[in-house]
Amino acid sequence: MAKIRITKMYDFEMAHMLKDYDGPCRNIHGHSYKLFVTVTGIPITDKNSPKKGMVMDFKDLKAIVKDHIVDRFDHALVINSEADPDMITSMKKHTENLIVVDYQPTSENLVTNFADIIKSHLPANVELHNLRLWETATSYSEWFAEDNL
Ligand SMILES: [Zn+2]
Repeated sequence: MAKIRITKMYDFEMAHMLKDYDGPCRNIHGHSYKLFVTVTGIPITDKNSPKKGMVMDFKDLKAIVKDHIVDRFDHALVINSEADPDMITSMKKHTENLIVVDYQPTSENLVTNFADIIKSHLPANVELHNLRLWETATSYSEWFAEDNL
């Protein structure tokens, strides 16, 4: 059987700020992110499986990414844990969905974090091939398994 890649696309709105950045992204602002998730595997050949012919049910892939990324990060404000502690305390008071991460929340670092999260939830016969995270209409970051062996 041929090895096949399947891809699903998600979108979410998220705010962030980049600590110490020398441009306007140091201020709190938001993006409409688009995340493309590509997994690879050999389609199931077991004739008795309801998933025969599928690398993975798109529904199951959707659920993994929705539960662990989209539902968590959509309409969240993501900030670096190294930001001013007083500011973090104040934001916690005034923001329902504040995510403090131990990295600068650039699209590069977000896509790396998302790869780790998705990999930990995929079934054993399926591998994460790549992620593409669009931050603006003209900019995206990609994570590829082959670059990160
Ligand atoms: Zn930004």
